[in-house]
Amino acid sequence: MEAAPKEKEKNLNFIEEIIEEDVKTGKNNSRVLTRFPPEPNGYLHIGHAKSICLNFGVAQRFGGQTNLRFDDTNPVTEDTEYVESIKEDIKWLGFNWAEELYASDYFDTLYNYAELLISKGLAYVEESSSEEIAKMKGTPTQAGVDSPFRNRSAEENLNLFRKMRNSEFDEGAMVLRAKIDMASPNMLMRDPLIYRIKKAHHHRTGDKWCIYPMYDFAHGQSDSIENITHSVCTLEFVPHREVYDWFIDKLEIFPSKQYEFARLNLTYTVMSKRKLLQLVNDNYVSGWDDPRMPTISGMRRRGYTAKAIRDFCDRIGVAKRENLIDVGLLEFFVRDHLNKIADRMMVVTDPLKVTITNFPEGKTEICSVENNPENPEGGHREMPFTHEIYIESEDFMEEPPKKFFRLAPGQMVRLKGAFIIQCDDFVKDEAGNIVELKCSYIENSKSGQDESGLKVKGVLHWVSIADAVPVELRIYDRLFKAENPASEEGEFMEYINENSLNIISAFAEPALKAATLDGKYQFIRKGYYVLDKDSNGNQLIFNQTVGLKDNWAKASN
Ligand code: ATP
Ligand code: MG
Repeated sequence: MEAAPKEKEKNLNFIEEIIEEDVKTGKNNSRVLTRFPPEPNGYLHIGHAKSICLNFGVAQRFGGQTNLRFDDTNPVTEDTEYVESIKEDIKWLGFNWAEELYASDYFDTLYNYAELLISKGLAYVEESSSEEIAKMKGTPTQAGVDSPFRNRSAEENLNLFRKMRNSEFDEGAMVLRAKIDMASPNMLMRDPLIYRIKKAHHHRTGDKWCIYPMYDFAHGQSDSIENITHSVCTLEFVPHREVYDWFIDKLEIFPSKQYEFARLNLTYTVMSKRKLLQLVNDNYVSGWDDPRMPTISGMRRRGYTAKAIRDFCDRIGVAKRENLIDVGLLEFFVRDHLNKIADRMMVVTDPLKVTITNFPEGKTEICSVENNPENPEGGHREMPFTHEIYIESEDFMEEPPKKFFRLAPGQMVRLKGAFIIQCDDFVKDEAGNIVELKCSYIENSKSGQDESGLKVKGVLHWVSIADAVPVELRIYDRLFKAENPASEEGEFMEYINENSLNIISAFAEPALKAATLDGKYQFIRKGYYVLDKDSNGNQLIFNQTVGLKDNWAKASN
Protein backbone atom coordinates (compact mmCIF):
# COMPACT_ATOMS: atom_id res chain seq x y z
CA MET A 1 0.00 0.00 0.00
CA GLU A 2 1.27 3.44 -0.85
CA ALA A 3 1.13 6.18 1.74
CA ALA A 4 -0.60 9.47 1.01
CA PRO A 5 1.79 12.34 0.45
CA LYS A 6 2.04 14.45 3.59
CA GLU A 7 2.97 17.97 2.62
CA LYS A 8 1.72 19.20 -0.69
CA GLU A 9 3.57 21.93 -2.51
CA LYS A 10 0.56 23.70 -3.89
CA ASN A 11 -1.74 26.60 -3.37
CA LEU A 12 -4.43 26.35 -0.73
CA ASN A 13 -7.93 25.56 -1.92
CA PHE A 14 -10.73 27.71 -0.56
CA ILE A 15 -11.58 25.26 2.23
CA GLU A 16 -7.94 25.23 3.29
CA GLU A 17 -7.90 29.03 3.24
CA ILE A 18 -10.81 29.08 5.68
CA ILE A 19 -9.12 26.55 7.94
CA GLU A 20 -5.78 28.33 7.79
CA GLU A 21 -7.50 31.52 8.94
CA ASP A 22 -9.26 29.64 11.78
CA VAL A 23 -6.00 28.07 12.89
CA LYS A 24 -4.25 31.47 12.79
CA THR A 25 -6.95 33.19 14.80
CA GLY A 26 -7.04 30.40 17.37
CA LYS A 27 -10.60 29.31 16.68
CA ASN A 28 -11.35 26.02 18.48
CA ASN A 29 -7.89 26.42 20.05
CA SER A 30 -6.51 26.00 16.53
CA ARG A 31 -7.71 22.42 16.54
CA VAL A 32 -8.78 20.84 13.24
CA LEU A 33 -11.04 17.77 13.18
CA THR A 34 -12.90 16.83 10.00
CA ARG A 35 -15.01 13.81 9.22
CA PHE A 36 -15.93 11.70 6.23
CA PRO A 37 -19.58 10.66 6.62
CA PRO A 38 -20.60 7.98 4.12
CA GLU A 39 -24.02 6.45 4.21
CA PRO A 40 -23.42 2.67 4.07
CA ASN A 41 -25.95 2.13 1.30
CA GLY A 42 -23.52 1.35 -1.51
CA TYR A 43 -19.88 1.22 -2.49
CA LEU A 44 -17.79 4.38 -2.66
CA HIS A 45 -17.25 6.03 -6.04
CA ILE A 46 -14.69 8.45 -7.41
CA GLY A 47 -16.81 11.37 -6.13
CA HIS A 48 -16.36 10.03 -2.62
CA ALA A 49 -12.64 9.73 -3.31
CA LYS A 50 -12.65 13.47 -3.95
CA SER A 51 -14.39 14.07 -0.63
CA ILE A 52 -12.00 11.68 1.18
CA CYS A 53 -8.91 13.36 -0.28
CA LEU A 54 -10.30 16.74 0.70
CA ASN A 55 -11.39 15.86 4.25
CA PHE A 56 -8.30 13.85 5.13
CA GLY A 57 -6.02 16.14 3.12
CA VAL A 58 -7.00 19.39 4.84
CA ALA A 59 -6.78 17.82 8.27
CA GLN A 60 -3.30 16.42 7.55
CA ARG A 61 -2.20 19.75 6.24
CA PHE A 62 -3.13 21.56 9.44
CA GLY A 63 -2.00 18.88 11.88
CA GLY A 64 -5.52 17.67 12.50
CA GLN A 65 -7.37 14.41 12.17
CA THR A 66 -10.40 12.95 10.44
CA ASN A 67 -13.13 10.70 11.79
CA LEU A 68 -14.84 8.09 9.72
CA ARG A 69 -18.52 8.31 10.58
CA PHE A 70 -21.09 6.05 9.04
CA ASP A 71 -24.26 8.01 8.51
CA ASP A 72 -26.50 5.06 9.24
CA THR A 73 -29.80 6.67 10.14
CA ASN A 74 -31.85 4.93 7.47
CA PRO A 75 -32.20 1.27 8.51
CA VAL A 76 -33.82 0.20 5.26
CA THR A 77 -30.97 0.71 2.78
CA GLU A 78 -27.93 0.01 4.93
CA ASP A 79 -25.77 -3.04 5.15
CA THR A 80 -22.58 -4.22 6.84
CA GLU A 81 -21.19 -5.35 3.47
CA TYR A 82 -21.13 -1.68 2.52
CA VAL A 83 -19.46 -0.71 5.81
CA GLU A 84 -16.63 -3.17 5.17
CA SER A 85 -16.13 -2.11 1.56
CA ILE A 86 -16.02 1.57 2.55
CA LYS A 87 -13.31 0.93 5.14
CA GLU A 88 -11.27 -1.10 2.68
CA ASP A 89 -11.52 1.62 0.04
CA ILE A 90 -10.45 4.44 2.35
CA LYS A 91 -7.44 2.46 3.57
CA TRP A 92 -6.52 1.55 0.03
CA LEU A 93 -6.63 5.22 -0.93
CA GLY A 94 -3.94 5.70 1.70
CA PHE A 95 -5.80 7.40 4.53
CA ASN A 96 -6.20 6.50 8.20
CA TRP A 97 -9.10 7.74 10.25
CA ALA A 98 -8.82 8.79 13.88
CA GLU A 99 -12.01 7.05 15.01
CA GLU A 100 -14.54 4.76 13.43
CA LEU A 101 -17.95 6.03 14.47
CA TYR A 102 -21.60 5.50 13.64
CA ALA A 103 -24.44 8.00 13.77
CA SER A 104 -26.47 5.12 15.22
CA ASP A 105 -24.18 5.23 18.28
CA TYR A 106 -25.80 8.58 19.02
CA PHE A 107 -29.42 7.43 18.79
CA ASP A 108 -29.84 7.76 22.58
CA THR A 109 -28.27 11.21 22.65
CA LEU A 110 -30.27 12.32 19.62
CA TYR A 111 -33.45 11.07 21.24
CA ASN A 112 -32.64 13.08 24.34
CA TYR A 113 -31.95 16.14 22.19
CA ALA A 114 -35.40 15.70 20.66
CA GLU A 115 -37.02 15.58 24.11
CA LEU A 116 -35.04 18.68 25.05
CA LEU A 117 -36.38 20.56 22.03
CA ILE A 118 -39.92 19.44 22.89
CA SER A 119 -39.56 20.66 26.44
CA LYS A 120 -38.30 24.01 25.16
CA GLY A 121 -41.42 24.26 23.01
CA LEU A 122 -39.31 23.89 19.86
CA ALA A 123 -40.66 20.62 18.51
CA TYR A 124 -44.08 19.04 18.14
CA VAL A 125 -45.73 15.79 17.16
CA GLU A 126 -47.48 16.12 13.82
CA GLU A 127 -50.40 13.87 12.93
CA SER A 128 -51.18 15.22 9.47
CA SER A 129 -50.49 12.93 6.52
CA SER A 130 -47.39 13.53 4.45
CA GLU A 131 -49.60 14.97 1.66
CA GLU A 132 -51.17 17.43 4.09
CA ILE A 133 -47.78 18.36 5.47
CA ALA A 134 -46.51 19.01 1.95
CA LYS A 135 -49.53 21.16 1.16
CA MET A 136 -49.16 23.26 4.32
CA LYS A 137 -45.47 23.86 3.50
CA GLY A 138 -46.32 26.47 0.86
CA THR A 139 -44.00 27.25 -2.02
CA PRO A 140 -40.72 29.14 -2.27
CA THR A 141 -42.71 32.28 -3.04
CA GLN A 142 -45.63 31.64 -0.72
CA ALA A 143 -45.41 31.19 3.05
CA GLY A 144 -46.64 27.95 4.54
CA VAL A 145 -49.50 27.64 7.00
CA ASP A 146 -49.31 26.37 10.54
CA SER A 147 -50.26 22.80 11.21
CA PRO A 148 -53.27 22.35 13.52
CA PHE A 149 -50.90 20.35 15.75
CA ARG A 150 -48.29 23.09 15.97
CA ASN A 151 -49.36 24.52 19.28
CA ARG A 152 -49.71 21.43 21.40
CA SER A 153 -48.33 21.68 24.90
CA ALA A 154 -44.84 20.42 25.61
CA GLU A 155 -46.34 17.86 27.92
CA GLU A 156 -48.68 16.46 25.29
CA ASN A 157 -45.86 16.36 22.74
CA LEU A 158 -43.55 14.58 25.13
CA ASN A 159 -46.21 12.03 25.91
CA LEU A 160 -46.93 11.34 22.24
CA PHE A 161 -43.25 11.22 21.30
CA ARG A 162 -42.58 8.62 24.01
CA LYS A 163 -45.47 6.59 22.68
CA MET A 164 -43.95 6.86 19.20
CA ARG A 165 -40.73 5.46 20.58
CA ASN A 166 -42.62 2.68 22.34
CA SER A 167 -44.07 1.51 19.07
CA GLU A 168 -47.63 2.45 19.97
CA PHE A 169 -48.33 3.95 16.54
CA ASP A 170 -48.12 2.72 12.99
CA GLU A 171 -45.53 3.87 10.49
CA GLY A 172 -46.63 7.16 8.96
CA ALA A 173 -49.16 7.88 11.70
CA MET A 174 -47.12 10.72 13.12
CA VAL A 175 -43.77 12.45 12.94
CA LEU A 176 -41.83 14.84 15.13
CA ARG A 177 -41.24 18.27 13.63
CA ALA A 178 -39.03 21.14 14.72
CA LYS A 179 -40.97 24.32 15.34
CA ILE A 180 -38.99 26.88 13.40
CA ASP A 181 -40.65 29.23 10.91
CA MET A 182 -43.43 28.36 8.43
CA ALA A 183 -42.76 31.62 6.58
CA SER A 184 -39.01 31.20 6.15
CA PRO A 185 -37.75 31.77 2.62
CA ASN A 186 -35.73 28.59 3.18
CA MET A 187 -38.23 25.76 2.72
CA LEU A 188 -36.12 23.49 4.92
CA MET A 189 -36.72 25.85 7.86
CA ARG A 190 -40.49 25.42 7.60
CA ASP A 191 -40.82 23.05 10.53
CA PRO A 192 -38.65 20.21 9.18
CA LEU A 193 -39.37 16.60 10.11
CA ILE A 194 -36.85 15.38 12.64
CA TYR A 195 -38.08 11.90 13.62
CA ARG A 196 -40.16 9.34 11.80
CA ILE A 197 -41.55 5.92 12.67
CA LYS A 198 -39.83 3.09 10.80
CA LYS A 199 -40.41 -0.41 12.01
CA ALA A 200 -37.26 -1.75 10.45
CA HIS A 201 -34.31 -3.77 11.66
CA HIS A 202 -31.13 -1.69 11.85
CA HIS A 203 -27.77 -3.22 10.92
CA ARG A 204 -26.30 -2.13 14.26
CA THR A 205 -29.06 -1.29 16.71
CA GLY A 206 -31.24 -4.22 15.68
CA ASP A 207 -34.85 -3.79 16.80
CA LYS A 208 -34.13 -1.37 19.64
CA TRP A 209 -35.63 1.58 17.80
CA CYS A 210 -38.78 2.04 15.78
CA ILE A 211 -38.22 5.77 15.37
CA TYR A 212 -35.24 7.12 13.43
CA PRO A 213 -33.85 10.67 13.18
CA MET A 214 -33.88 12.44 9.81
CA TYR A 215 -30.58 13.48 8.19
CA ASP A 216 -30.94 17.11 9.32
CA PHE A 217 -31.43 16.11 12.91
CA ALA A 218 -28.58 13.62 12.93
CA HIS A 219 -25.77 15.09 10.92
CA GLY A 220 -25.02 18.38 12.62
CA GLN A 221 -25.55 16.92 16.07
CA SER A 222 -23.22 14.02 15.27
CA ASP A 223 -20.62 16.54 14.15
CA SER A 224 -21.14 18.43 17.37
CA ILE A 225 -20.97 15.35 19.60
CA GLU A 226 -17.59 14.52 18.03
CA ASN A 227 -16.38 18.13 18.30
CA ILE A 228 -15.86 18.30 14.56
CA THR A 229 -14.48 21.73 13.71
CA HIS A 230 -14.99 21.80 9.94
CA SER A 231 -17.82 19.76 8.46
CA VAL A 232 -17.13 19.70 4.74
CA CYS A 233 -19.90 18.55 2.42
CA THR A 234 -21.22 19.06 -1.08
CA LEU A 235 -23.22 21.98 -2.44
CA GLU A 236 -26.66 20.39 -2.20
CA PHE A 237 -26.35 20.90 1.56
CA VAL A 238 -26.12 24.69 1.34
CA PRO A 239 -29.80 25.17 2.24
CA HIS A 240 -29.36 22.68 5.09
CA ARG A 241 -26.73 24.87 6.74
CA GLU A 242 -29.35 27.13 8.32
CA VAL A 243 -31.07 24.10 9.85
CA TYR A 244 -27.71 22.72 10.96
CA ASP A 245 -26.88 25.94 12.79
CA TRP A 246 -30.39 26.27 14.25
CA PHE A 247 -30.30 22.89 16.01
CA ILE A 248 -26.80 23.47 17.36
CA ASP A 249 -27.85 26.88 18.61
CA LYS A 250 -31.08 25.72 20.27
CA LEU A 251 -29.49 22.65 21.82
CA GLU A 252 -26.54 24.77 23.00
CA ILE A 253 -23.97 22.20 21.93
CA PHE A 254 -20.49 22.44 20.38
CA PRO A 255 -20.71 24.70 17.33
CA SER A 256 -19.39 22.64 14.43
CA LYS A 257 -19.49 24.57 11.16
CA GLN A 258 -20.51 23.36 7.74
CA TYR A 259 -18.67 24.28 4.50
CA GLU A 260 -19.69 23.23 1.02
CA PHE A 261 -17.86 22.45 -2.23
CA ALA A 262 -19.01 21.22 -5.63
CA ARG A 263 -19.57 17.55 -6.33
CA LEU A 264 -17.25 15.84 -8.71
CA ASN A 265 -18.97 14.63 -11.86
CA LEU A 266 -17.14 12.62 -14.48
CA THR A 267 -17.92 12.20 -18.17
CA TYR A 268 -19.40 8.96 -19.56
CA THR A 269 -20.56 7.65 -16.22
CA VAL A 270 -23.11 8.18 -13.45
CA MET A 271 -22.17 9.15 -9.94
CA SER A 272 -24.94 8.27 -7.59
CA LYS A 273 -25.10 5.16 -5.48
CA ARG A 274 -28.75 4.71 -6.33
CA LYS A 275 -27.97 4.62 -10.04
CA LEU A 276 -24.92 2.43 -9.55
CA LEU A 277 -27.03 0.00 -7.54
CA GLN A 278 -29.48 -0.12 -10.42
CA LEU A 279 -26.64 -1.05 -12.81
CA VAL A 280 -25.66 -3.86 -10.46
CA ASN A 281 -29.19 -5.12 -9.79
CA ASP A 282 -30.19 -5.07 -13.45
CA ASN A 283 -26.98 -6.92 -14.40
CA TYR A 284 -25.60 -4.27 -16.69
CA VAL A 285 -22.33 -4.91 -14.87
CA SER A 286 -21.01 -7.89 -12.93
CA GLY A 287 -21.07 -6.15 -9.54
CA TRP A 288 -20.04 -3.03 -7.65
CA ASP A 289 -16.42 -3.78 -8.48
CA ASP A 290 -16.94 -4.35 -12.18
CA PRO A 291 -13.91 -2.68 -13.80
CA ARG A 292 -16.23 -0.38 -15.79
CA MET A 293 -17.81 1.05 -12.66
CA PRO A 294 -16.74 4.47 -11.34
CA THR A 295 -16.46 2.90 -7.90
CA ILE A 296 -13.16 2.84 -6.06
CA SER A 297 -13.35 -0.97 -5.95
CA GLY A 298 -14.04 -1.07 -9.69
CA MET A 299 -11.13 1.21 -10.42
CA ARG A 300 -8.85 -0.83 -8.17
CA ARG A 301 -9.86 -4.00 -10.01
CA ARG A 302 -9.33 -2.19 -13.30
CA GLY A 303 -5.74 -1.49 -12.23
CA TYR A 304 -5.96 2.19 -11.29
CA THR A 305 -3.56 3.11 -8.51
CA ALA A 306 -4.42 4.98 -5.35
CA LYS A 307 -1.74 7.52 -6.18
CA ALA A 308 -3.26 8.19 -9.60
CA ILE A 309 -6.67 8.81 -8.01
CA ARG A 310 -5.17 11.08 -5.36
CA ASP A 311 -3.19 13.02 -7.95
CA PHE A 312 -6.34 13.43 -10.03
CA CYS A 313 -8.35 14.68 -7.05
CA ASP A 314 -5.58 17.08 -6.23
CA ARG A 315 -5.35 18.40 -9.75
CA ILE A 316 -9.06 19.08 -10.23
CA GLY A 317 -9.02 21.20 -7.09
CA VAL A 318 -11.99 22.19 -5.00
CA ALA A 319 -14.71 23.93 -6.95
CA LYS A 320 -17.56 26.13 -5.80
CA ARG A 321 -19.71 25.34 -8.80
CA GLU A 322 -20.83 22.00 -10.25
CA ASN A 323 -18.80 20.87 -13.22
CA LEU A 324 -18.22 17.84 -15.38
CA ILE A 325 -14.64 16.57 -15.48
CA ASP A 326 -13.28 14.74 -18.51
CA VAL A 327 -12.60 11.11 -17.55
CA GLY A 328 -9.59 11.43 -19.88
CA LEU A 329 -7.93 13.54 -17.20
CA LEU A 330 -8.26 10.70 -14.69
CA GLU A 331 -6.85 8.29 -17.28
CA PHE A 332 -3.97 10.68 -17.84
CA PHE A 333 -2.94 10.35 -14.18
CA VAL A 334 -3.40 6.59 -14.28
CA ARG A 335 -1.19 6.31 -17.35
CA ASP A 336 1.35 8.70 -15.89
CA HIS A 337 1.79 6.60 -12.76
CA LEU A 338 1.67 3.22 -14.50
CA ASN A 339 4.30 4.34 -16.97
CA LYS A 340 6.69 4.66 -14.04
CA ILE A 341 5.85 1.47 -12.20
CA ALA A 342 4.51 -1.09 -14.69
CA ASP A 343 6.64 -4.01 -15.81
CA ARG A 344 6.82 -4.28 -19.59
CA MET A 345 5.60 -7.64 -20.82
CA MET A 346 5.10 -9.30 -24.18
CA VAL A 347 1.68 -10.54 -25.22
CA VAL A 348 0.65 -11.45 -28.75
CA THR A 349 -3.03 -11.01 -29.60
CA ASP A 350 -3.11 -11.93 -33.30
CA PRO A 351 -0.44 -14.61 -33.62
CA LEU A 352 1.58 -15.39 -36.69
CA LYS A 353 3.89 -18.39 -36.39
CA VAL A 354 7.55 -17.79 -37.12
CA THR A 355 9.91 -20.72 -37.50
CA ILE A 356 13.53 -19.92 -36.81
CA THR A 357 14.98 -22.31 -39.31
CA ASN A 358 18.59 -22.15 -38.12
CA PHE A 359 17.73 -22.49 -34.41
CA PRO A 360 17.59 -26.16 -33.38
CA GLU A 361 14.26 -27.72 -32.46
CA GLY A 362 14.05 -28.60 -28.76
CA LYS A 363 16.71 -26.07 -27.76
CA THR A 364 15.97 -23.12 -25.46
CA GLU A 365 18.09 -20.00 -25.16
CA ILE A 366 17.27 -17.84 -22.18
CA CYS A 367 17.15 -14.10 -22.83
CA SER A 368 17.31 -11.61 -20.00
CA VAL A 369 14.85 -8.77 -20.64
CA GLU A 370 14.62 -5.45 -18.82
CA ASN A 371 11.33 -5.08 -16.93
CA ASN A 372 10.96 -1.32 -17.03
CA PRO A 373 13.18 1.18 -18.85
CA GLU A 374 11.58 3.94 -16.71
CA ASN A 375 12.75 2.28 -13.52
CA PRO A 376 16.45 1.36 -13.18
CA GLU A 377 15.57 -0.80 -10.17
CA GLY A 378 12.88 -2.66 -12.10
CA GLY A 379 15.17 -5.62 -12.69
CA HIS A 380 15.17 -8.21 -15.44
CA ARG A 381 13.21 -11.34 -16.24
CA GLU A 382 13.97 -14.40 -18.32
CA MET A 383 12.33 -15.15 -21.63
CA PRO A 384 12.88 -18.44 -23.44
CA PHE A 385 13.80 -18.21 -27.13
CA THR A 386 13.03 -21.34 -29.17
CA HIS A 387 12.62 -22.77 -32.68
CA GLU A 388 9.05 -21.51 -33.06
CA ILE A 389 7.71 -18.16 -31.91
CA TYR A 390 4.65 -15.97 -32.36
CA ILE A 391 4.69 -12.39 -33.54
CA GLU A 392 1.69 -10.18 -34.38
CA SER A 393 0.23 -10.81 -37.83
CA GLU A 394 0.28 -7.08 -38.51
CA ASP A 395 4.05 -7.09 -38.08
CA PHE A 396 4.58 -8.78 -41.44
CA MET A 397 3.76 -7.48 -44.91
CA GLU A 398 4.35 -9.33 -48.11
CA GLU A 399 4.65 -6.10 -50.04
CA PRO A 400 5.54 -3.43 -47.54
CA PRO A 401 5.33 0.29 -48.20
CA LYS A 402 8.46 2.37 -47.67
CA LYS A 403 9.34 2.93 -44.03
CA PHE A 404 7.70 -0.29 -42.90
CA PHE A 405 10.38 -1.32 -40.42
CA ARG A 406 8.80 -4.57 -39.36
CA LEU A 407 9.12 -7.89 -41.16
CA ALA A 408 8.86 -8.35 -44.91
CA PRO A 409 10.62 -10.73 -47.29
CA GLY A 410 14.34 -10.17 -46.90
CA GLN A 411 13.89 -7.62 -44.08
CA MET A 412 15.44 -7.75 -40.62
CA VAL A 413 14.05 -6.83 -37.21
CA ARG A 414 15.11 -7.27 -33.64
CA LEU A 415 13.00 -9.47 -31.41
CA LYS A 416 12.81 -7.42 -28.24
CA GLY A 417 15.33 -8.59 -25.68
CA ALA A 418 16.52 -11.38 -27.97
CA PHE A 419 18.01 -11.71 -31.46
CA ILE A 420 17.88 -10.06 -34.83
CA ILE A 421 16.01 -12.21 -37.31
CA GLN A 422 15.64 -12.04 -41.08
CA CYS A 423 12.58 -13.12 -43.02
CA ASP A 424 13.62 -15.63 -45.68
CA ASP A 425 10.29 -17.01 -46.78
CA PHE A 426 6.59 -17.17 -45.96
CA VAL A 427 3.83 -19.76 -46.24
CA LYS A 428 0.26 -19.14 -47.41
CA ASP A 429 -2.82 -21.28 -46.93
CA GLU A 430 -5.24 -22.09 -49.76
CA ALA A 431 -7.19 -18.92 -49.15
CA GLY A 432 -4.05 -16.87 -49.58
CA ASN A 433 -3.60 -15.98 -45.92
CA ILE A 434 -0.10 -15.84 -44.58
CA VAL A 435 0.15 -18.57 -41.97
CA GLU A 436 3.84 -18.89 -41.26
CA LEU A 437 7.14 -17.11 -41.72
CA LYS A 438 10.48 -18.83 -42.16
CA CYS A 439 13.21 -16.74 -40.60
CA SER A 440 16.83 -17.15 -39.67
CA TYR A 441 18.36 -15.64 -36.56
CA ILE A 442 21.72 -13.91 -36.34
CA GLU A 443 23.59 -15.83 -33.71
CA ASN A 444 25.87 -13.08 -32.38
CA SER A 445 23.12 -10.43 -32.21
CA LYS A 446 21.69 -11.22 -28.77
CA SER A 447 20.49 -8.11 -26.93
CA GLY A 448 23.04 -6.84 -24.47
CA GLN A 449 25.87 -8.74 -26.18
CA ASP A 450 25.28 -7.83 -29.82
CA GLU A 451 28.42 -8.21 -31.90
CA SER A 452 26.70 -8.43 -35.26
CA GLY A 453 27.27 -4.81 -36.19
CA LEU A 454 23.86 -4.83 -37.86
CA LYS A 455 21.58 -1.84 -37.59
CA VAL A 456 17.88 -2.63 -37.61
CA LYS A 457 15.08 -0.14 -37.04
CA GLY A 458 12.18 -2.40 -36.09
CA VAL A 459 11.78 -4.04 -32.70
CA LEU A 460 8.99 -6.61 -32.33
CA HIS A 461 7.41 -8.24 -29.31
CA TRP A 462 7.16 -12.02 -29.48
CA VAL A 463 6.60 -15.16 -27.44
CA SER A 464 8.02 -18.67 -27.70
CA ILE A 465 5.18 -20.96 -28.83
CA ALA A 466 6.26 -23.84 -26.62
CA ASP A 467 6.24 -21.57 -23.58
CA ALA A 468 3.37 -19.22 -24.42
CA VAL A 469 0.54 -18.95 -21.89
CA PRO A 470 -2.96 -18.62 -23.34
CA VAL A 471 -4.67 -15.73 -21.55
CA GLU A 472 -7.94 -13.83 -21.74
CA LEU A 473 -7.84 -10.06 -22.14
CA ARG A 474 -10.81 -7.96 -21.10
CA ILE A 475 -10.78 -4.66 -22.90
CA TYR A 476 -13.13 -1.96 -21.71
CA ASP A 477 -14.77 0.99 -23.32
CA ARG A 478 -16.88 3.73 -21.69
CA LEU A 479 -19.89 2.36 -19.84
CA PHE A 480 -22.14 5.02 -21.38
CA LYS A 481 -22.40 6.52 -24.83
CA ALA A 482 -23.56 9.91 -23.57
CA GLU A 483 -21.14 12.31 -21.96
CA ASN A 484 -23.51 12.98 -19.09
CA PRO A 485 -26.13 10.21 -19.10
CA ALA A 486 -27.89 11.50 -15.98
CA SER A 487 -28.65 14.82 -17.65
CA GLU A 488 -30.01 13.31 -20.88
CA GLU A 489 -33.67 12.89 -21.63
CA GLY A 490 -35.31 9.69 -20.42
CA GLU A 491 -33.66 7.06 -18.29
CA PHE A 492 -29.87 7.10 -17.91
CA MET A 493 -29.89 3.37 -18.71
CA GLU A 494 -30.92 4.13 -22.27
CA TYR A 495 -27.45 5.53 -22.86
CA ILE A 496 -25.55 2.45 -21.81
CA ASN A 497 -22.81 1.33 -24.21
CA GLU A 498 -23.60 -2.30 -25.12
CA ASN A 499 -20.05 -2.75 -26.35
CA SER A 500 -18.24 -1.66 -23.22
CA LEU A 501 -16.60 -5.06 -22.74
CA ASN A 502 -14.57 -6.81 -25.42
CA ILE A 503 -12.99 -10.16 -24.60
CA ILE A 504 -10.09 -11.46 -26.66
CA SER A 505 -7.67 -14.34 -26.29
CA ALA A 506 -3.93 -13.88 -26.51
CA PHE A 507 -0.58 -15.58 -25.90
CA ALA A 508 1.51 -14.23 -23.07
CA GLU A 509 5.15 -14.70 -22.26
CA PRO A 510 5.63 -17.24 -19.45
CA ALA A 511 6.74 -14.67 -16.85
CA LEU A 512 3.09 -13.63 -16.60
CA LYS A 513 2.28 -16.94 -14.94
CA ALA A 514 3.67 -15.29 -11.82
CA ALA A 515 1.41 -12.23 -12.18
CA THR A 516 -0.18 -11.06 -8.93
CA LEU A 517 -3.38 -9.11 -8.34
CA ASP A 518 -1.29 -6.14 -7.19
CA GLY A 519 1.14 -6.32 -10.11
CA LYS A 520 1.02 -3.61 -12.77
CA TYR A 521 1.98 -4.51 -16.32
CA GLN A 522 2.38 -2.79 -19.61
CA PHE A 523 1.74 -5.19 -22.45
CA ILE A 524 4.05 -3.68 -25.02
CA ARG A 525 2.15 -1.80 -27.75
CA LYS A 526 -1.18 -2.86 -26.20
CA GLY A 527 -1.80 -0.95 -23.02
CA TYR A 528 -1.61 -1.29 -19.26
CA TYR A 529 -2.99 -4.47 -17.78
CA VAL A 530 -3.72 -6.00 -14.41
CA LEU A 531 -4.56 -9.55 -13.38
CA ASP A 532 -8.27 -10.02 -12.68
CA LYS A 533 -9.55 -11.86 -9.64
CA ASP A 534 -11.65 -14.12 -11.90
CA SER A 535 -8.38 -15.84 -12.91
CA ASN A 536 -7.82 -19.40 -11.76
CA GLY A 537 -5.29 -22.18 -12.26
CA ASN A 538 -6.62 -22.93 -15.74
CA GLN A 539 -7.13 -19.46 -17.07
CA LEU A 540 -5.32 -16.20 -16.52
CA ILE A 541 -7.48 -13.15 -17.12
CA PHE A 542 -6.16 -9.61 -17.50
CA ASN A 543 -8.10 -6.35 -17.46
CA GLN A 544 -6.98 -3.52 -19.63
CA THR A 545 -6.50 -0.62 -17.22
CA VAL A 546 -6.00 2.01 -19.87
CA GLY A 547 -4.61 2.19 -23.37
CA LEU A 548 -1.17 3.53 -24.13
CA LYS A 549 -2.28 6.55 -26.06
CA ASP A 550 -2.65 9.82 -24.34
CA ASN A 551 -5.89 10.96 -25.87
CA TRP A 552 -6.55 13.55 -23.22
CA ALA A 553 -3.36 15.55 -23.74
CA LYS A 554 -3.96 15.52 -27.48
CA ALA A 555 -7.54 16.65 -27.16
CA SER A 556 -6.66 19.50 -24.84
CA ASN A 557 -3.75 20.82 -26.89
P1 ATP B 1 -24.69 9.45 -3.74
O1 ATP B 1 -25.61 10.47 -4.30
O2 ATP B 1 -23.70 8.92 -4.71
O3 ATP B 1 -25.39 8.36 -2.99
P2 ATP B 1 -24.21 10.69 -1.30
O4 ATP B 1 -23.85 12.10 -1.14
O5 ATP B 1 -25.59 10.30 -0.95
O6 ATP B 1 -23.81 10.23 -2.73
P3 ATP B 1 -22.85 9.82 1.01
O7 ATP B 1 -22.45 8.45 1.40
O8 ATP B 1 -23.92 10.48 1.77
O9 ATP B 1 -23.23 9.75 -0.52
O10 ATP B 1 -21.58 10.75 0.89
C1 ATP B 1 -20.51 10.80 1.78
C2 ATP B 1 -19.76 12.06 1.53
O11 ATP B 1 -19.24 12.07 0.21
C3 ATP B 1 -20.65 13.27 1.66
O12 ATP B 1 -19.97 14.26 2.41
C4 ATP B 1 -20.88 13.71 0.25
O13 ATP B 1 -21.08 15.09 0.18
C5 ATP B 1 -19.59 13.27 -0.44
N1 ATP B 1 -19.82 13.03 -1.85
C6 ATP B 1 -20.75 12.21 -2.40
N2 ATP B 1 -20.72 12.28 -3.74
C7 ATP B 1 -19.74 13.15 -4.07
C8 ATP B 1 -19.22 13.66 -5.30
N3 ATP B 1 -19.69 13.26 -6.47
N4 ATP B 1 -18.21 14.55 -5.24
C9 ATP B 1 -17.70 14.93 -4.06
N5 ATP B 1 -18.15 14.51 -2.87
C10 ATP B 1 -19.16 13.63 -2.86
MG1 MG C 1 -26.49 10.46 0.89
